[in-house]
Amino acid sequence: MSFPETIRPGALIRPDDQPNPDMSGWRVDRKPAVQRSLCVDCLLCWAFCPDAAVVVQSGHFAGFHYPACKGCEICVATCPTHAISMVPEATPVGPQGEMGGERR
Ligand code: SF4
Ligand code: SF4
Repeated sequence: MSFPETIRPGALIRPDDQPNPDMSGWRVDRKPAVQRSLCVDCLLCWAFCPDAAVVVQSGHFAGFHYPACKGCEICVATCPTHAISMVPEATPVGPQGEMGGERR
């Protein structure tokens, strides 16, 4: 993948500059969801997600950007509190991907 032409070699690249293509077609009937009561805001899921599909707002975990999520399950594997699990695509989730529990 090449950089956009507007970014010159040596330029500062901000987080919002990264490509964020729609990867949702890669998922096979499963998407990540979070049990908010178990989340301790360590942000390991954000650090390890290869597709920038974990959303962080004001330093806190804020759900998933589902169009960018390819369902690789790395966030599930990295979450130390087992707050994230894969659920069927049709499972209703809250605006921050929550499947139950309240925000701490
Ligand atoms: S399953 Fe988790 S780690 Fe994989 S792309 Fe989706 S949010 Fe990122
Ligand atoms: S890895 Fe788990 S505990 Fe840490 S921010 Fe993500 S969901 Fe929350």
